[in-house]
Amino acid sequence: MGKQSPGGGSSGGATELQCEMSFGGGPVPILAALLDGEVKVTNTTPGGSGTKKGIRSSLSPKDKRSCASCLPSLSVGGGSEKEYLLSYGDLLGAALDKDAKLLRLVHCPPSAGPNTCRVRNDVVLSITGGTEALDTAEAWASKVSERCLANRPGRERYLVLINPASGIGNGRQIWAEVKQLWELLPWIGFEEVFTTRAGEATDRVKELRLEDYTGVVIVSGDGMVYEVFNGLSARLDKDEALQLPVGHIPAGSGNGLIKSVLSAAGETFGVLDAAFLIAKRGQQPIDLYDVRLPDREPSVSFLSLSGGVIADIDLESEFMRCLGKIRFDLYGVWCVIRPRALQAELAYWPANATEDLPKLAPALADPLPTGPWERIDDDITLLWGMNVAWASTTTHATPGQELADGSMSILLMRRARRIDLLQCLLGLESGGHVGVNGVQVLKCRAFRLTPRSARGHLAVDGEEVPLGPIQFWPTTVQGRILGAPASDHKV
Ligand code: ADP
Ligand code: MG
Repeated sequence: MGKQSPGGGSSGGATELQCEMSFGGGPVPILAALLDGEVKVTNTTPGGSGTKKGIRSSLSPKDKRSCASCLPSLSVGGGSEKEYLLSYGDLLGAALDKDAKLLRLVHCPPSAGPNTCRVRNDVVLSITGGTEALDTAEAWASKVSERCLANRPGRERYLVLINPASGIGNGRQIWAEVKQLWELLPWIGFEEVFTTRAGEATDRVKELRLEDYTGVVIVSGDGMVYEVFNGLSARLDKDEALQLPVGHIPAGSGNGLIKSVLSAAGETFGVLDAAFLIAKRGQQPIDLYDVRLPDREPSVSFLSLSGGVIADIDLESEFMRCLGKIRFDLYGVWCVIRPRALQAELAYWPANATEDLPKLAPALADPLPTGPWERIDDDITLLWGMNVAWASTTTHATPGQELADGSMSILLMRRARRIDLLQCLLGLESGGHVGVNGVQVLKCRAFRLTPRSARGHLAVDGEEVPLGPIQFWPTTVQGRILGAPASDHKV
């Protein structure tokens, strides 16, 4: 029982592994086979009569706690309760603990409930036999991992920056969950740093040796992602530095970037979902924007510019922070009753213009270079320039806006009627606001906003900037993000 087939499998190649799984009533023999799209785990107890409980109790008590209600269903194929199919799409790979003689299939399927967040549901196989059996198991495990990762070679070395103060202050706990997963994966190595002050993330990435890392992972909100992109962009070797991909584990109050990335990958929003997507080792580019403001050094934006009612709700409701997220609804009602428009000129280079936008951003004091500029001079009730689709986990501000299509979407309402403004705000979560009367979405490559109003707010990537002229221009080099879009998923 549980003998290892020399060479790895009874049907040639290392596609099958004979092993055991532990149940309440003792170990039972198991055959784990690599199929095209999944791993099939079969209970080979003769007659199968002793398998009524199915292959479930392989989970360690710790794993069970995090996924008690979400065991994947057993295969409905011929063997019914004898077979258990694990899709490569839900597997991160197989890790062998030679000392314990345990082979763990790291498995994170979507939960079965209404919320389809991924959950941990590992399958642990015990290897019987000596060194030869362990070698066979090791070869089999690396085959599983190769298939799960679409053969992406090498090993990651991530610098993980954790902000213990972000969001509701649970950055440490969130990182602990991710760490528990990543520590099992032999292809992920990391160095963890808990930040102690604002600006530390910028300073660290300004100074890091590029050859020491394959990525920077942020456990915080969009604010620290902003710090990292600005740190990378401030380096003398910024073109090279911006090739270092940035990953985002959501732990902040604003997590628009990772929500957009997960959504484009067909994933549900969650901590494990983000950790899973990163562990799959895909990457993608992201457009970055050179932001000019009077009397300030140029900075880099990856997310948004908000103005008018949007910035008012976000920034002026700060005094109600103790109420939690409901502050936005309450203050939103106030802003609908007393909307304050921003009188401004918006000049934008339409995304569908055939002319090429000049590569270098002009100084704010200089006139815009000649080109197909469109100009709007009006009372702007609401303005949201977006480089991604989701401004936060619950705000689908610009549906369809892609991370790296060379454009931004500007959501705009001018001289909005109260009823239309209300409908727009109510539709933001679903994206239904796009069809509301008076809502425009302009696709552009670059823009300059010149406010004339004396009062009002502007925010870049969620942080307030002084009210005044502001310009967004694409940077010459894009940034990179950890986690591939759905179109890239090979497994
Ligand atoms: P949140 O969405 O919760 O605001 P952010 O990632 O935006 O989360 O964090 C806000 C800011 O907190 C970051 O821009 C960063 O400058 C700052 N920060 C980082 N580490 C610390 C720390 N240890 N204490 C206080 N602030 C910090
Ligand atoms: Mg923030």
